[in-house]
Amino acid sequence: MCGIVGYIGNKRAAPIILAGLKRLEYRGYDSAGVSTIDGGALTMAKKAGKVADLERATTVSKTEGTIGIGHTRWATHGVPNDVNAHPHADSSDNIVLVHNGIIENYVTIKKKLTAQGYAFKSDTDSEVLAVFIGMLYKTFGNFEQAVRTALCEVEGTFGIVVMCAEHPDMLIAARRGSPLILGVGNDEYVVASDAAAIVSHTRQVVYLHENEMAIVTRNGFTTKTILDIETDPVIEEISIELEQIEKGGFPHFMLKEIFEQPTTFHDGFRGRLLVDEGNVRLGGLSTVTDRLLNAKRIIITACGTSWHAALIGEYLLENMARIPVEVEYASEFRYRNPIIDSSDVVIAISQSGETADTLSAIRLAKANGATVIGMVNVVGSSIARETDAGVYLHAGPEIGVASTKAFTSQLCVLTQFSLYMARTRGMSAETGREIATALEAIPEMIERILAKSDEVKEIARQYADASNFLYLGRGYNFPVALEGALKLKEISYIHAEGYPAAEMKHGPIALINENMPVVFIAPKDEIYEKVVSNIEEVRARQGKVIAIASESDDFIDTVANHVIKIPDTLPMLIPILASIPLQLLAYHIAVFRDCNVDMPRNLAKSVTVE
Ligand code: GLU
Repeated sequence: MCGIVGYIGNKRAAPIILAGLKRLEYRGYDSAGVSTIDGGALTMAKKAGKVADLERATTVSKTEGTIGIGHTRWATHGVPNDVNAHPHADSSDNIVLVHNGIIENYVTIKKKLTAQGYAFKSDTDSEVLAVFIGMLYKTFGNFEQAVRTALCEVEGTFGIVVMCAEHPDMLIAARRGSPLILGVGNDEYVVASDAAAIVSHTRQVVYLHENEMAIVTRNGFTTKTILDIETDPVIEEISIELEQIEKGGFPHFMLKEIFEQPTTFHDGFRGRLLVDEGNVRLGGLSTVTDRLLNAKRIIITACGTSWHAALIGEYLLENMARIPVEVEYASEFRYRNPIIDSSDVVIAISQSGETADTLSAIRLAKANGATVIGMVNVVGSSIARETDAGVYLHAGPEIGVASTKAFTSQLCVLTQFSLYMARTRGMSAETGREIATALEAIPEMIERILAKSDEVKEIARQYADASNFLYLGRGYNFPVALEGALKLKEISYIHAEGYPAAEMKHGPIALINENMPVVFIAPKDEIYEKVVSNIEEVRARQGKVIAIASESDDFIDTVANHVIKIPDTLPMLIPILASIPLQLLAYHIAVFRDCNVDMPRNLAKSVTVE
């Protein structure tokens, strides 16, 4: 959440920072700001709204100075307005910072500073940190020491980049709980929340660790802990390409990412799926093979869309590998004193690999001796680093705030993980081959569904004015219903609920009338007849039925108002296919409603706050 960029080098900082902020805008977009040091004094431009609003309303792009910092905000403390926008300076306009995260003890620190006569302009926790560092700078006369001392005092999470007008040759970056990457160029450095803002400058990066800081000048950088212990920075190469983070002719990132799924899904099993052997090779798990074999139980923990993938993972693992699985919201898991021990395997699923609650959940699991596995998309992210082993999604950068391709890649990885576990627990090679062959055929099937985008758009046009939607599915497709409803809510602001189809009669049926569109995921599987009965129940109450159904099913056309057909495959793989038309439905409805699809209100990508 929130995007941070810092630059120090020989070029004008402001244009570089603005370009970086635009690349990071999917992380937060309620306000933006840039500060540079020009001729020994701070420049400052801040504005509520998008980075483009900042550029339009201020002279920021003309700002001089070859050192600077910028921020695109997702407010936690204080409404999104010009004053609360970052950067925040201390009262002498000497220290200035951008901050991602939450300073949990800001009230205590603010009280102390107020008692000493310091005043505050904004309602943010971040300004308190800026003023605090400013106060400590006055005490020590040492920029680095002031930052370090402040960071030892604060509780909560931070990714910060700090400048000092009296030190125009130094940028200090530090992190705890929020990601921060240092891009190492030729006599220039870019610090950013993620690689998207760095890749056009350099591919050489240093991932800052927890409680680590980087002191960066034009001639080099050092890293140390906030306790002043020097660390050894490892320079790594980032692998993302520029075109991966651009729209490539699509009107929105979300649509681009939906259409990338044949490829991203394929990338999820390329080099892993052993079709002839009916098995899977997951190199990232080789160090924990024995612990997986001995696992008594698997707990999958995640948030949001990843939690929906986790629910499908539960069905997959229990069905295929016959191992008990529990799925937990990470935010609940960590605060409810769960029973975990060394015989448990805990899987954390997160697109960004930075989700604050999921990260805390795995720390708790590790502390209790569990084996912790990550399934994340962003290479080198915190979860990837802190888990014992893992499987990357290989979906490429996901910029659209509403997750699409990462979700299907999560299902790709979970299916393979389940197959791998099943084969070690007695599943025959023949059954394994059947599943592997079916999985291999999925990308081409996704392609066929995507070809129906206009068909889905026409349905979307008819329901774009609805106030409510119900999504129903059973078995593997119950979590698909939850995910379909979430997608619609996120980007179109239509209230939508997902339910197990058979639960409808225990409550939601009361809502059904001629204004209620109900989306059924109704493939030809062993509970098909039951779902058709549910469809009849909705129709009997004048509800409008949109059915996601199997290509081989002709009957459904006689009971549903609209049918979107998907190819026939194994029941366990239907969620992958069924989620594609639901993504398209949500997308087209949101576009008809003139919503900002890639930056839905109040949301942001990569939830790095609790
Ligand atoms: N807590 C800070 C604020 O509300 C930073 C939020 C963010 O990460 O964007 O301004």
